[in-house]
Amino acid sequence: MTRVRAYRFRAYTSKTTARVLKTQLEVACKLYNTLLHAEKEEYEKNKRTMSMNELRQLALDLRKQNQEFQALHSQVAQQVADRFYEARQRFLDGLANKPKKKPHRYLSLVYPQSGWKLSDTREVGLGKNKKKRKARLYLSKIGFFTLILHREFLESQVSQVCVKLYPSSNPRFLVEESEVEEQPSKEPKNAVGVDLGLTRLATLSDGRFLENPKPLERSLERIRTIQRTLSRKRFLSKNWFKAKTRLAKQHEHVRDFRRDLFFKLGFLLAQEYDLLVLEDLDTEGLIQKGVTRTRRMRLYDSSFSELRRCLEWVFLKRGKTVLAVSAYNTSRECFLCGGINKGLTLEDRVFLCPHCGFTLDRDLNASLVLLKRAGWVPSAVPVELHPIPPLPSLGLARWGFEAGSSAF
Ligand SMILES: [Zn+2]
Repeated sequence: MTRVRAYRFRAYTSKTTARVLKTQLEVACKLYNTLLHAEKEEYEKNKRTMSMNELRQLALDLRKQNQEFQALHSQVAQQVADRFYEARQRFLDGLANKPKKKPHRYLSLVYPQSGWKLSDTREVGLGKNKKKRKARLYLSKIGFFTLILHREFLESQVSQVCVKLYPSSNPRFLVEESEVEEQPSKEPKNAVGVDLGLTRLATLSDGRFLENPKPLERSLERIRTIQRTLSRKRFLSKNWFKAKTRLAKQHEHVRDFRRDLFFKLGFLLAQEYDLLVLEDLDTEGLIQKGVTRTRRMRLYDSSFSELRRCLEWVFLKRGKTVLAVSAYNTSRECFLCGGINKGLTLEDRVFLCPHCGFTLDRDLNASLVLLKRAGWVPSAVPVELHPIPPLPSLGLARWGFEAGSSAF
């Protein structure tokens, strides 16, 4: 299996080019909706769905006939068809909702093999200023962009370029590089169990934990203020758009912060361990079952599924292993004797086994149970929890124990 590695780069462009990009996104959106409509008609008439090739051909035909669609590069038009096809397949496989008309949420274009060109890679910044690498990217039918290359990649390996317009209105580029060869998995020497939670985002089976920084909850005050401002503006007016952008930026910040934190945790774990054991959580179900509104929000804010994706990515990239074990009763099972503590509630922070008297922090016990389920037993059970020492440049996240933090 060849895996694809994707990198995201910040990009800047002139106002004119940005406007062209926005127009193209609208056109792509129109094309998507036209395909959706055609597919619907075909199904009603002949009770069949169109194949990927038919959809691609249809997209190209539409582009030939319609002056407006010619604004798009031909491969980009085909890719719109691919995207629709994939959305429909996911629906047919029962994995997603029916593809819908996209009014103004079509935010990215993909250039598969051609239509783009990277050039003029250079280093800028003198003296004390940190050196930055920049490059020029040309997208056919749109124009030139300046990319900030914050990391190295092999230009010859780039398989496709995706331009995505972010709410803060800086387009970013996703460069996909196919991995040359998957690294062979080494025989794991040491393993760590990670229990995900709300008070402590992650509790490791070695006795360390990471405090949940709750990024959304922290920004909520600001978000609510902007939302109030937004509701007072005239719909679609200039000031309305201004407030809307500010709101989007705030959400973007929360998202970026979260990713950054997750990756840092991933690197920390991957440095020390070969095998990562997680519980197989049904996050969506958890959020829906969340008893109170705050709890639901905190579950959402903790983004367990994204955390898991990030950790997996970091581990797999280094040829290490990730195991997801059944989440059933992990917090109620005793690590020592395997007995079940039926009376344990969400409020109990300490696990006390009614069968053998084993006492341990609730999350630590759960992470040890995970490790045991994966077939690993640690040589020594930590008795105390220790905060993970602060990692550099973590911004507003606080690692470790916060005095007086209430148990959730
Ligand atoms: Zn026990």
